[in-house]
Amino acid sequence: MVGIDPGHNGGNAGAPEVIDEPVWNGRSKSPCNTTGTATNDGYPETDFTWAVATKLAADLRESGAKVVMTRDSNDGVGPCIDERAKIINDAKADVAIDIHADGAAASERGYSLLIPVPSGTNDEIVQPSRRYAELLRTEMGKTGMPLASYLGKGGFVERDDLAGLNLTTVPQVLLETGNMRNAADARLLKSDRFQAKVAAAIERAMAAYLRSR
Ligand SMILES: [Zn+2]
Repeated sequence: MVGIDPGHNGGNAGAPEVIDEPVWNGRSKSPCNTTGTATNDGYPETDFTWAVATKLAADLRESGAKVVMTRDSNDGVGPCIDERAKIINDAKADVAIDIHADGAAASERGYSLLIPVPSGTNDEIVQPSRRYAELLRTEMGKTGMPLASYLGKGGFVERDDLAGLNLTTVPQVLLETGNMRNAADARLLKSDRFQAKVAAAIERAMAAYLRSR
């Protein structure tokens, strides 16, 4: 079983009373969800995360894998970040990916990997998630997107404030696939071809991780 969490949701912007509601993120409280970012010409992060997630799910199912997704459309609201973790945990996924793209300063480029630190709940998957993130970093290096130099160390960012990483009991990484506010990254992020390459990179990293266990 493979877990796929496409970041945000297309209807979030129209439902602030739902997505602003605080929920437990495993260490403190965070908003239920957020709207996500967009390219400067208005291509939303939700469309990107949904496109990659659906390509990845199709590829995985074609390879015979079972897939659980945290949302089943791109025009709904939520679910909240704690609920997303629960969906993946309850499905007993063997590995999971959170798909996002960043909204950083326009001069910055590249992908980064947000990885868990021990929260109590996730202790057993912190090291496996690190190994999986290393495999994903390598595979993302084949997509044409550069490794981010503006975030973290060698592309890795340890995060203790994200529900998806704090509440998971499944090896999990949050991929910031590129910077939507950078023109070169935005060109890639909007392209079908690049989206397919990202889905393929994630699938290869998952397969390599599962083989290595
Ligand atoms: Zn995001």
